[in-house]
Amino acid sequence: MPKTIMEFCEINSFTDQLIAWQRKQGRHHLPWQINRTAYRVWLSEVMLQQTQVSTVIERYQVFLKKFPTVKALASASIDDVLSEWSGMGYYTRARNLHRCAQVVVTEYQGVFPSDPKLLETLPGIGRSTAAAIAVFAYGQSAAILDGNVKRVLARVWGIQDDLSKNAAVNQLWAHAETLLPHAPEDLVSYTQGLMDFGATCCTQNKPACISQGSITCPFEDVCLAKRFDLIKHIPLKVKKVKVSTVNIDWWVLQYKDKLLLEKRPHQGIWAGLWSFPESIDLPKSAKQLERQVIKHVLTHRVLNIRPIQVTLQRPLTKIPANCEWIELADLKNLGLPTPVRLFLKNLDLIHDDA
Ligand code: SF4
Repeated sequence: MPKTIMEFCEINSFTDQLIAWQRKQGRHHLPWQINRTAYRVWLSEVMLQQTQVSTVIERYQVFLKKFPTVKALASASIDDVLSEWSGMGYYTRARNLHRCAQVVVTEYQGVFPSDPKLLETLPGIGRSTAAAIAVFAYGQSAAILDGNVKRVLARVWGIQDDLSKNAAVNQLWAHAETLLPHAPEDLVSYTQGLMDFGATCCTQNKPACISQGSITCPFEDVCLAKRFDLIKHIPLKVKKVKVSTVNIDWWVLQYKDKLLLEKRPHQGIWAGLWSFPESIDLPKSAKQLERQVIKHVLTHRVLNIRPIQVTLQRPLTKIPANCEWIELADLKNLGLPTPVRLFLKNLDLIHDDA
């Protein structure tokens, strides 16, 4: 980083001001800020990776009630974990949570290690999450660098590089480490401050310096993105990945109080969750009712789903591999992708308390 740029925002000044800002304007009452054990911090960090804070606030306590300890989570079935995760998306996180809990129990006697390097070796724990656990649960000195923190550092120091490239990210990691406070008692406020500042002050589209909110930014005088009118250009926007459209059928077969569901493979969309079979051999007499097409948008794909409902008078003689007849009363205990759950709710086959 050029010295001239560094001079604009002297390191100690950034760190001290961020700590002061957090103590005054940061968040202090989030459920995972109470009783910061490694298990609770880890769970909140994983949930927050791709889910909005308001949703995590609702789901965090419910998840903890069901799996109050890492041992309880490790000994649960994956279906139970996926079911509890339903609606939060990115189910790889839930599968990794389960695997990670099992590793912590079998290899670490149920206690998360405090060394960020060891934490990073656990399933689903990246460098930034490892650092957050080490700081909040164990008071270790370690730098975090999630998407929000990258944006904040890039803006304050006017870094216009493509932040998806390794060189830029390595530079930011090195910078994040130099910014760590020296006093151990400041580590929590500083780390929480970075998270809060990115989430509530220097947000992607409406940073406090150009919007009229109650939160104020302490870096307005030194921030290079602000000074050179680069806020909209930092972080640099990279070309979006092309989104493809896929048409699929859902065969919604009901026989008495049972639905035919298919457990999806462990790779690909909705891995390990229960959905409807996408092809099936039906007796000629079976009446088919085509429902309205459902459009479901995933990160790189748009699914046009055509549900075809069939009420059978007698059971099928043969069902596809990975399919099972599931009692309607048991649907609420299964890990279901969001569109499947919504579809079943619309048909009144599963209820809101599920
Ligand atoms: S001045 Fe604006 S862009 Fe710069 S850190 Fe503050 S809120 Fe972010």
